[in-house]
Amino acid sequence: MELTNIGTVRDILGRHGFNFSKGLGQNFIINPDICPKIAENGNAKKGYGVLEIGTGIGVLTKELALRADRVAAVEIDTRLLPILDETLADFDNVKIYNEDVMKADLRGIIEKEFAGLRCAVCANLPYYITSPVIMLLLESRLPIDSITVMVQKEAAQRLCAAVGTRESGAITVGVNYYGTVKQLFGVSRGSFMPSPNVDSAVIRIDLNKKSELTEEQEKFFFRVVKAGFSQRRKTMANSIASLMGIGKSAVYSVLSELGLPEAARIEQLSMEQLMKFSVMLMEQTKE
Ligand code: SAM
Repeated sequence: MELTNIGTVRDILGRHGFNFSKGLGQNFIINPDICPKIAENGNAKKGYGVLEIGTGIGVLTKELALRADRVAAVEIDTRLLPILDETLADFDNVKIYNEDVMKADLRGIIEKEFAGLRCAVCANLPYYITSPVIMLLLESRLPIDSITVMVQKEAAQRLCAAVGTRESGAITVGVNYYGTVKQLFGVSRGSFMPSPNVDSAVIRIDLNKKSELTEEQEKFFFRVVKAGFSQRRKTMANSIASLMGIGKSAVYSVLSELGLPEAARIEQLSMEQLMKFSVMLMEQTKE
């Protein structure tokens, strides 16, 4: 079954009485070049189990199942299950979990489905939870080699920005702490059904860095990063003090030890400065 053929897609969706849910970010890929490219660049190969997030009608799932040993896919929309039964009928190496990815036991799924295999994540992510999903995958320290995902162009720019620049955000710090990220290719809005208002891009994060902080330091580090970036227009002293309940004087003293001005903004700090800042601030708050 050709799942990128508009006639075929309309026929399946029509027979099942399916309407797209905007709230669930349902823009399905209809450009035949995209899914094979995501699979080939995303470690979908022998020896791998691939975790997919959001199957739609299974257009990417199928390409992953053709290449990887196993595929486990988490899809929230129950209405898609009978469609997937039909579109993935030829594959016996795919398991669908009808769950919300933010609540699913991803570690349990990986352990159960991918025993003895390496693991990678591939997805065309629902745009409304791009950053939360990526942060969840990173912070839960799952045994994954890479995350290859389609995201909206603006999200790709933020993810691939350099830490310490205006384009960066909490997610930029997250990916650079755990690994390295690069944009693979752009995807025009016409490649989807229905067509969204913006273009997209596929990025790949390789989780290749060892943690430099202890678990406690790491938790504190991400609290600092999220607090600092959630109020970007404020100085980091203001946002960290107000959101983390830490005295401004403690923040000022750490900034000054690092040779940074009191009015520093979080986006001006390099990765090394951010880590030093958060380790020192954690020590200060313990005193
Ligand atoms: N992979 C398909 C494709 O490329 O055509 C569908 C991609 S579509 C952008 C996103 C998919 O994620 C939809 O099928 C949607 O129902 C699903 N989804 C949305 N929110 C989800 C959540 N919280 N957990 C799991 N799946 C979700």
